[in-house]
Amino acid sequence: MNQRIQGLGNRLAEVSRRDFIKWCSAAAVYLGLPAGMGEKIAEAATAPQRPPVLWLSAQECTGCGETLLRANHPTLETLILDVISLEYYETLNTGAGHQAEEARVEAMKKYEGQYILVVDGSIPVKDDGIYCKIGGKTALSLLEEMGSKAFATIAIGSCSSWGGVPSADPNPTGATPVHQIFKDKGIKTPVVNIPGCPPNPYNFLGTVLYFLTLKKLPELDAELRPKFAYGRLIHENCERRPHFDAGRFAKQFGDEGHRQGHCLYMLGCKGPETFNNCPAILFNDVGSGAWPVGTGHPCFGCSEKGVGFHAPLHSPARPIYVTPPTLYASVFPEQGKGASGTAAALAAGIAGAVIGAGAAMAKNLGKSSEDGGEEK
Ligand code: SF4
Repeated sequence: MNQRIQGLGNRLAEVSRRDFIKWCSAAAVYLGLPAGMGEKIAEAATAPQRPPVLWLSAQECTGCGETLLRANHPTLETLILDVISLEYYETLNTGAGHQAEEARVEAMKKYEGQYILVVDGSIPVKDDGIYCKIGGKTALSLLEEMGSKAFATIAIGSCSSWGGVPSADPNPTGATPVHQIFKDKGIKTPVVNIPGCPPNPYNFLGTVLYFLTLKKLPELDAELRPKFAYGRLIHENCERRPHFDAGRFAKQFGDEGHRQGHCLYMLGCKGPETFNNCPAILFNDVGSGAWPVGTGHPCFGCSEKGVGFHAPLHSPARPIYVTPPTLYASVFPEQGKGASGTAAALAAGIAGAVIGAGAAMAKNLGKSSEDGGEEK
């Protein structure tokens, strides 16, 4: 199987050693490791012994697999194919039917207790799991069989992490996350959740790299998510946060606030209750703004249990905590009455520190507002 999919890309060799080490050092920092660990990551990523991976797909849309395969960074794109030994994955299998089933069973036997199981999609448990079958077996029985013999399991995407879209009310199939099934069945294999719809591919790849390098799983939070990726609220790193703190909100799609890039909280942004690193690492390697809020749509909390696919799309978020800002501007400033004392003093202070002209700045700011200028 691995030989068949290797043809999809082996560009790791095309990257210069220097660039590769540089990338590994950046990856070390991203994973919360000292930069010096870059060398170790490089060694682990190029080791001839690659960890076997079996991938099980249940109630899913293949978006999680797509997000990995379409990662634009060339080294990461090939990393998943060159660094691990992908033994079974229905989306990439060239064999089908009995041939694919045999490959799965053979790989499980050969690598018992050593392979990493990756699961995308939720597991239906209602009516003995009949709503999702692969090769005549329910996803429920396959998960039990494959999960109990794995070294570790990575639940990729919101569906396998906490239920995702199939678990939306009224959850007709009894969609259940992987870790819950393990708990119910007494399976002790450790689980890492990488939620998102789809998740950022680098959060998955980072977890694999961490495991390869340190031979252990990264530190997890209470929801079994790697802290290096899900340690902060989206709201904490959002580029629109200064507008939130200043009380500047878009109130309707397409209004002036929306066009000016103001905060999307009033349009239902769930950033204040969703833990993820979307604004920090972005998507598709195309530069700034390449994430939902960056393009003008409120975060809908796809990665957060009880928020995405459960809370109404445009209902206000229930902020978990809001880091206090250093100052609050007036939410509804009076227009055309001159700058407020606080705003003028602040502007003067900042300007003064830089050019030593604080008093003149305060005076001019007040004057321009009296002349009809808008307070900024
Ligand atoms: S509410 Fe949403 S748009 Fe506004 S700052 Fe927070 S995350 Fe960004």
